[in-house]
Amino acid sequence: MNNQELWQSVLSQIQFTVSKANFATWFRNTKIDSIKEGIVVVSTPNSFSKEWLKTKYKQIILKILRSLEKGVKDIDFIVAQHNNSSLTSNIKQKRTQKRDKILNSPQLQFQEFSVDQETNLNPRYNFDNFIVGSFNEMAHAASLAVSENPGAVYNPLFIYGGVGLGKTHLLQATGNKILLNAKNVAIRYTTSESFISEIIDSIRNHSISSLKKKMHKIDVLIMDDVQFFAGKEKTQEEFFHIFNHLYQHQRQIILSSDRPPSAIPTLTERLRSRFGGGMTIDIGTPDLETRIVILKSKLEEKNINLNQEALNYIASNIQKNIREIEGFVNRLVIFQNLNQKTPDINIVKELLKSQLNPLKKSVNFKKIIKSVASFYDLDEKELLEATRRKEIVKPRQIAMYLLREELKESYSLIGRRFKGKDHTTAIYACEKIAKQLELDDSLLTEINMIKQRVYSDL
Ligand code: ADP
Ligand code: MG
Repeated sequence: MNNQELWQSVLSQIQFTVSKANFATWFRNTKIDSIKEGIVVVSTPNSFSKEWLKTKYKQIILKILRSLEKGVKDIDFIVAQHNNSSLTSNIKQKRTQKRDKILNSPQLQFQEFSVDQETNLNPRYNFDNFIVGSFNEMAHAASLAVSENPGAVYNPLFIYGGVGLGKTHLLQATGNKILLNAKNVAIRYTTSESFISEIIDSIRNHSISSLKKKMHKIDVLIMDDVQFFAGKEKTQEEFFHIFNHLYQHQRQIILSSDRPPSAIPTLTERLRSRFGGGMTIDIGTPDLETRIVILKSKLEEKNINLNQEALNYIASNIQKNIREIEGFVNRLVIFQNLNQKTPDINIVKELLKSQLNPLKKSVNFKKIIKSVASFYDLDEKELLEATRRKEIVKPRQIAMYLLREELKESYSLIGRRFKGKDHTTAIYACEKIAKQLELDDSLLTEINMIKQRVYSDL
């Protein structure tokens, strides 16, 4: 194995032990810089992730590395040269990208093809490698029709369905196909999260009109995961106008969401009716037979040959989504590469067991309080008791926010947990933090670090 393959193997094992967000936060843009005399030098994008990897992940990385390469003695972390080591300027420079990084699902980024800078399209997603079954055939047919005749058939095309079921794949495939048919079409794929942060940036920089001008030139606009528009009033307003402009000029608009327009909370009525004004189609979940076909095609791509029993076993046990099937195929690839043999049914069962029951990540009230307190060097008591000390206010709000986000506790329960507080304080705290998160990247990092503690086994 060369360094790159070795690191990919490490990453694909680690992603099963950390949450998606943390995986994206701490492991993106890392690589093995060099290996000298058993010391593996891992390059990180900034001093922040360097410190964090060193303190939190060194042991597990070391363990995995040793299981892959006998001679590994230790790890050194360095900051990649081209990066500014100052955290704040780094954050400012990269705020949009970073927000993307954290919010977008990683989807095994390290294996992806390169994304086109202009269109944001990734050639990895195309119609040829998209398996069609009864669960997605309508969505597939509509996308194909749109790709052959953009702006003319279904406008907007709105595709919804659960996570990991192929929405992004289909949207991207449509964009790629259009581009293939006509090179000079201006296509832009964007996730709604990055669009939201673009809007926020342009408001701050007073450049909203130039953003609009740019958007108005687009022939095919693909907006992924619009459920995140919920609660973003300003974004909804700006998008409404952009939508109208494009629509009136017969430009194609393609949208996706994890739910139908009617179920997106706080979406303004006018936008809701625009979203549902073309063709709305859902993607369901694949049945066993289709899962086997999908599995087979992914295995074929990777040159892995499993017998029918193993195929059945996997497809019967991984039912939720296609992303999980891919995740498992990646584990098989690693197994096969390391052991130079095809995994048999026993290996498959063994590997699957650890994927289906990862280390239980139990979160509870105590753990959240403990993590927030230790992060800010406070006593747990201080956090819970009635005090107006300035340095307690923010940590307490963050604790409330995490109780809501991670445990889905009711506002009244959250209120009762803190002395002298009630549900209005809890609502205020959660909303305040949520709002601030939109504007302040360092808060996002902070909260991610706390979450990391919440979910770590310590
Ligand atoms: P979503 O956007 O709905 O969360 P994705 O489009 O990201 O899901 O799909 C998750 C993974 O599964 C992707 O890597 C994608 O390529 C793959 N995938 C999804 N649907 C199919 C399909 N019908 N055929 C082949 N691969 C698929
Ligand atoms: Mg998606």
